[in-house]
Amino acid sequence: MNDMNRVATEVATVKLLIDGTFVESRSEQWRDVVNPATQAVLARVPFATADEVDAAVRSAQQAFKSWRKTPIGARARIFLKYQQLIREHMSELAAILTAEQGKTLADAEGDVFRGLEVVEHAAAIGNLQLGELANNVAGGVDTYTLLQPLGVCAGITPFNFPAMIPLWMFPMAIATGNTFVLKPSEQDPLVTMRLVELALQAGVPKGVLNVVHGGEDVVNAICDHPDIKAVSFVGSTKVGTHVYHRASLAGKRVQCMMGAKNHAVVLPDANKEQTLNALAGAAFGAAGQRCMAASTAVLVGEAQAWIPELVAKARTLKVNAGTEPGTDVGPVISCAARERVESLIAAGVEQGARLELDGRKPSVPGFERGNFVGPTIFSGVEPGMRIYDEEIFGPVLIVLAADTLEAAIELINANPNGNGTALFTQSGAAARRFQEDIDVGQVGINVPIPVPVPLFSFTGSRASKLGDLGPYGKQVVMFYTQTKTVTARWFDDDTLGHGVNTTISL
Ligand code: NAD
Repeated sequence: MNDMNRVATEVATVKLLIDGTFVESRSEQWRDVVNPATQAVLARVPFATADEVDAAVRSAQQAFKSWRKTPIGARARIFLKYQQLIREHMSELAAILTAEQGKTLADAEGDVFRGLEVVEHAAAIGNLQLGELANNVAGGVDTYTLLQPLGVCAGITPFNFPAMIPLWMFPMAIATGNTFVLKPSEQDPLVTMRLVELALQAGVPKGVLNVVHGGEDVVNAICDHPDIKAVSFVGSTKVGTHVYHRASLAGKRVQCMMGAKNHAVVLPDANKEQTLNALAGAAFGAAGQRCMAASTAVLVGEAQAWIPELVAKARTLKVNAGTEPGTDVGPVISCAARERVESLIAAGVEQGARLELDGRKPSVPGFERGNFVGPTIFSGVEPGMRIYDEEIFGPVLIVLAADTLEAAIELINANPNGNGTALFTQSGAAARRFQEDIDVGQVGINVPIPVPVPLFSFTGSRASKLGDLGPYGKQVVMFYTQTKTVTARWFDDDTLGHGVNTTISL
């Protein structure tokens, strides 16, 4: 954490949103929001106090009383307006995102757009939050379900998608009738705050959406708070596991989407050009800082001969600031992240993997202080090496060899993570075999980053996820609501008077 305990003075401060008002935190702990390409300090973000977290939850609890009664059409119309505002501000949002996060402007627009799709889905809430009715389950008796909001929900988000992931959370939580407390990443909260301003402009009433900033203490306060009913978390496996246990222990409903090691399997019958392009894009795009990055290639049989061409493709990618035209790979989020990626590359060399392409310390004229790591490729990688066992979260592609599709499937199923995987092939039979036997929650067939659109839900599995229901889509409607089942009989006068019945029947 940089510059802790320095009170904000010279640069803009990031505000809390409590009860419909953007307020300055009274915290004495702050940190800088830093442009990863230049080290320029863009703003200072507070670590909210316990009282401030409490005030945010109180406001959300108060707002819930009327928001839960607001007609579904009125809720939906706010998100219709919101999606329009996000579209109108797309370039501005992307520019803020690139400045604080580093990814290219085009990729920043993609980050906003994948969140916008969830907002569009939230605008369709009238078609989603529907119960069931069974007519005449007993004589004159009907049973039906109500999907009712839970109350105050909270969201904790990571640095790598500062637009998309907050938008995975609060629009659907609010559209289903809940109120919300958001805790954005302290590394890049600025685009999230701009999205929150636009949400208020779209008509989200005061108290329905609140924002607190901070790190471990604020997250723990959210996990423990008795008036928060559900917590959505996206971030690393270590923190997500902690959040899941702590918030569950406090009686909350919890969903945690966590770290990954996504394998892309290449069969020799795959279209070589398309596959190598897909691999390079999915391994090095966003400087490898995507939970669905294809960070691990498994080349089967003769596809192992493709490594030189893969390296040649990676060499063509341009490493530069995300604002510069033609950039393919921007900086990683912080100096600490760069050092960590570099030390993992060193560990790969030490542990005997072959460094086919070394991206350490690239020359980036005009941005000498940026946190750059260029595309890096290792071959000859095996389980047990740190570069295989750990999520690198940088532009590093590791390549393993397998003799058969079955061996590749066995390797992937033995890895603890289950976020995403992909198969490149022209064989329908191989693809079907793969989708049936692979124990990973999101599968791409000739699609390197298979993140489902919001008509579906994000369905990572095994060590990449805790909790049953995923974010957005139909699953999140269930996550953010309590199913109430009503069994009803309305007596006509002539059905009265059958006397006392002590059996269990309706
Ligand atoms: P992180 O776990 O460090 O931070 C996530 C959130 O937790 C942040 O809001 C942060 O303030 C908070 N936090 C950090 N340390 C904490 C602590 N000790 N106690 C309590 N809270 C703490 O993750 P990150 O580095 O911001 O994001 C990268 C990670 O997120 C990667 O592992 C990536 O795979 C994962 N991720 C997963 C998905 C998914 O859908 N599965 C999506 C995006 C990112």
